[in-house]
Amino acid sequence: MTALAVLSVASEVYPLVKTGGLADVAGALPGALAAEGVAVRTLVPGYPKVMKALEGGTAVHAFADLFGGPARLVAGTASGLDLIALDAPHLFARDGNPYVGPDGRDWPNNAFRFAALARAAADIGLGRTPLPVPDVVHAHDWQAAMAPAYLHYAGGARPGTVVTVHNLAFQGQFPAELLGPLGLPPHAYAVDGIEYYGTIGYLKAGLQLADRITTVSPTYAAEILEPEAGMGLDGLLRVRAGALAGIINGIDVDVWNPATDPLLPAAFDARRLKGRAKAKAALQQAMGLAVDPGALVLGVVSRLSWQKGLDLLVDALPVLVGEGAQLALLGAGEPALEQGFAAAQARWPGRIGCRIGYDEALAHLIQAGSDAILVPSRFEPCGLTQLCAMRYGAVPIVARVGGLADTVIDANEMALAAGVATGLHVAPIGRERLEAALRRAASLWNDPPTWRRLQKNGMATDVSWTHPARRYAALYRDLVGRD
Ligand code: ADP
Repeated sequence: MTALAVLSVASEVYPLVKTGGLADVAGALPGALAAEGVAVRTLVPGYPKVMKALEGGTAVHAFADLFGGPARLVAGTASGLDLIALDAPHLFARDGNPYVGPDGRDWPNNAFRFAALARAAADIGLGRTPLPVPDVVHAHDWQAAMAPAYLHYAGGARPGTVVTVHNLAFQGQFPAELLGPLGLPPHAYAVDGIEYYGTIGYLKAGLQLADRITTVSPTYAAEILEPEAGMGLDGLLRVRAGALAGIINGIDVDVWNPATDPLLPAAFDARRLKGRAKAKAALQQAMGLAVDPGALVLGVVSRLSWQKGLDLLVDALPVLVGEGAQLALLGAGEPALEQGFAAAQARWPGRIGCRIGYDEALAHLIQAGSDAILVPSRFEPCGLTQLCAMRYGAVPIVARVGGLADTVIDANEMALAAGVATGLHVAPIGRERLEAALRRAASLWNDPPTWRRLQKNGMATDVSWTHPARRYAALYRDLVGRD
């Protein structure tokens, strides 16, 4: 079997640049695909951290002018990934968040920054660079989604194209006047092209023009065909439903392995949970919580945004505290939520602990030291923290939406009797149902054998990339007509 070559195009890749789950996927999927006979190279923007990691790399191609400045493609390996960086200092030589500036607003030239990424991908796909031509160009999210458009409007032979939607809420819309400057032909600006409600829609273009569309869970794949989760794109997605598949995400089980995790005070696994107790005590200490092994510790690791439903948690905190539980929260985002949790910490010292910011080490400690992880999202394409939670023996309490519904088995009577439950569902998500779930969690916590069973079932669940990678490999082979 000859290896199939895929060019993965992503604006983030763990561990070099990460704002969310997209980076985790872009960072972990290539390794899992290698085992399936798929060779992945990943094209990423040449942010300072990426260029530093590729210091020993080779410049393989030069663009005299890529949207306002010279650029190069630099190939090399870093963190086990076969990378191609788009080194374009006029677009990417900035530290900090990849999408927004220090003022919290989108970088004003984002249209060109991510068109450049897509153009570079298309040039590689069209054999306009010395790099080998891939069988498939796989674009992740709006930042890469113009790649299928550039390939399409080039005309002629091209690789197969796949767009993966990690979150339909982020679509990349830009003024129609940019059509010419973006190097696209006038006829591209059409309903069956890149036009989207009077603008240029990057994700829309990808969804319209890619050969295949995937999203990150089967339930989300169904949800986005309806107006409520479809975010204006459900009509197009219904038309393209035959090309759409939901493939659940995995997590990197080497990065997330409680038996070897250097970020934990002690190792543990499903048979030896003592190290977990140490992590719980360390977590309680780190978050200013009362160090009490008997208290139910609920953890949150999340962006603080409306999507994540954490305003509902702020409202439900009196019930959480009333049930004798503690909260360990790590997150950053909307100021109102940051303030809401900070105020709760001041109101209930020793019971509510919050850390505002981004902190990998604390994220691991929360997964290892919490008894349960809360994910009350209003919508959730896949969600990764509930997968980490199961692997680390924290019971996920999740809204029954998207990938959360697909990955957690609710502790209803039937599932408990069958011994298969792994967590709790909240449906539909709302303050009262969340409060009821907190009460249900507290009552299960007071039934240690049942709690232990939920925990063990979660720890025995395969949350690796093995199965999802097989599905991506099958999709690529089907697309290019290779067995
Ligand atoms: P999303 O991509 O919508 O933010 P996911 O659950 O898919 O949500 O992925 C979030 C990823 O980011 C997880 O790996 C999670 O551990 C990590 N993460 C989120 N917020 C933080 C934070 N404040 N500090 C450290 N890691 C975080």
